Amino acid sequence: MAVKLARNPDSLAIPLIRSLQQVQQTMGVCSRCGHLTPQSEDPCSLCTDPLRQQHVVCVVEDPGDIAILERSGSFQGRYHALMGKISPMRGVGVSALRVSALLERIEGEGIREVILALNADVESEATASYLHDQLTGKVKVSRIALGLPAGGGIAYADPVTLERAIRGRHDLERDESRPLEDGRKGEKSAD
Ligand SMILES: [Zn+2]
Repeated sequence: MAVKLARNPDSLAIPLIRSLQQVQQTMGVCSRCGHLTPQSEDPCSLCTDPLRQQHVVCVVEDPGDIAILERSGSFQGRYHALMGKISPMRGVGVSALRVSALLERIEGEGIREVILALNADVESEATASYLHDQLTGKVKVSRIALGLPAGGGIAYADPVTLERAIRGRHDLERDESRPLEDGRKGEKSAD
């Protein structure tokens, strides 16, 4: 990449520098949830959207996680990015994370439920455990299930993933769109 940029300064390097400058000058971080947002739009559109659930907050480690969850369309509440995770090895303690901001939001916004959507490594586990202790008694706290990836087979899963998949199991719910054995859909019959 460096060689390409050096060989094509006018067509590659200069436009790239201008784009990066533009991002730095116009983009910022939402003061409420931590999502990336234009500097002219703070709080961000996710925080101010009246159609989203007001009292449910999904806690993630980084703003990039918000974009990934939004792409999935699986969550319709508010977000809160911690901007990292507890990491004694890298000298990151609770005070470096946006934990007190989360506690203030719970009080100020009347949040009733917090969903922890953190990663699955040791530091994320410690962060989830700390948050669980801090939030229990104040709000309902849950953590997203961890388990097999879509399209993944049991034969290729490591023991920790399998153990979490079994721990995070859930009841099978009747899917109305799934055809019954005789070809009918759901419980509605043609007669
Ligand atoms: Zn926001």
